[in-house]
Amino acid sequence: MIAARISLRLARPYALAVGRQQRAIHQCRTLLHGHPASLKDLDRLLVKDGATQTIRGIAKEPETVLAKHIKDTIKIAGPLSVGQYIRQALTHPLGGYYMKGDVFGVQGDFTTSPEISQMFGELVGVWFITQYQALNGPDKIQLVELGPGRGTLMSDILRTLETFPFLHNKIEAIHLVEASPHLKRVQAKALTGQTMESSDFKSLKTPSGVEVFWHENFENVPGGRCSMFIAHEFFDAMPIYKFEMTEHGWREIMVDIDESDSSPYHLRFIRAPSNTKAAATMIQGERYANYKQGERIEIAPESWGFAKQIGERIKADGGAALVVDYGRNHILGDSLRGIRKHKFTHVFEQPGDCDLSADVDFSFVADAVQASGSHAHGPITQGTFLRAMGIGTRLQELLKVAQTQDKRKEMVQSFERLVGPLGMGRVYKFLAITGSSEAPYPFLGVEDPELDTGAGEDGPTPSLKQ
Ligand code: SAH
Repeated sequence: MIAARISLRLARPYALAVGRQQRAIHQCRTLLHGHPASLKDLDRLLVKDGATQTIRGIAKEPETVLAKHIKDTIKIAGPLSVGQYIRQALTHPLGGYYMKGDVFGVQGDFTTSPEISQMFGELVGVWFITQYQALNGPDKIQLVELGPGRGTLMSDILRTLETFPFLHNKIEAIHLVEASPHLKRVQAKALTGQTMESSDFKSLKTPSGVEVFWHENFENVPGGRCSMFIAHEFFDAMPIYKFEMTEHGWREIMVDIDESDSSPYHLRFIRAPSNTKAAATMIQGERYANYKQGERIEIAPESWGFAKQIGERIKADGGAALVVDYGRNHILGDSLRGIRKHKFTHVFEQPGDCDLSADVDFSFVADAVQASGSHAHGPITQGTFLRAMGIGTRLQELLKVAQTQDKRKEMVQSFERLVGPLGMGRVYKFLAITGSSEAPYPFLGVEDPELDTGAGEDGPTPSLKQ
């Protein structure tokens, strides 16, 4: 980390821009009905189903503790919703993916933007400054992060805010929503410098005296305060439920035991023979009209819940939020995938040892925000956001103070990875949530030239979770 000061010069243009609020919200938010799922992957999902698979005699992979647990559950209670499977695979105390070790970085399974360069968190911090000013500098604020990973993003945000005492002095507390006891300790080290032996702590202080609180549930984050929220690669970890349009209407795709010798996995997808509670409650309204037989949709009810709660908090107490993730601005059909060691895996490969993730449907998140009474702006691409916030200027500042040529080269590479259309610049999107209907800078209501609306596309977005 390089300690070049974020200069006031860098922040000023945004502060000014906040005053010049633009009228239109990004036109992509109007794609409320989304695009029907593509037909091209129709059989991919069910290909491991014994009925359709022709190859025989495939040995089963070793069974993980979690796979065994899930099979036992299915034996007693019947097939699971895909969402229930994902929830268990990611956060079950008995070997859920996020409940174990550190999964980030070159040695881990994927690398996220904040881990690539300090510039990412710094510019998110600068955006929060603009929002603080847009709210006329409230007396007290709190910072809230959902799914903080290694704590890198929040420490970069905090370091940036520390250089602006008029705001830093107003930070009453930081609240982190984290399910993983292991990552909680990693975050404690990153933010406070303290090495914790157990995860049995509720709060700790940063060296600059800000108290950091951990919560397993968002509901426990105290309200009544102006809050700045950040959720980076959190919504893609929310369980999705899958449905397929059949001649009898929507049918849920579920997870059952696979005892066949035609697949190495212990689990398989099946189509529920009759209407399920999930199908009856989740698929409602115009949004899901006009689908043809064989088309599939993914719905993440918890994404709706989190987005709505953030919106409600902002409406009641003031504040702003950034939701950053990869995804599209329409309903997705088949985007769920596993990830391990920087490669895609089958959804049922080694449950608990592979990450599971689905593209975020930003139009769904935006609808939930509208339902809360707050306002969603965007999405715009990561490349557009970071460039507009001055990543170029920041890179120049850092290059000047870098000690070696290698360091400078690494910085330029990181820059390109973050903003370049072939890296994360295009597939990752930023959505802002504010109490005002006026779009904040740089969500200016103009068509984002890089925005990939994904019309007609589906399936896992390429070059993700690098
Ligand atoms: N924001 C970080 C980490 C992203 S990974 C980064 O970008 O580097 C997802 C994070 O969300 C992890 O910290 C994981 O433990 C946490 N998480 C996943 N599901 C969660 C849930 N249901 N509740 C709370 N935290 C969760």
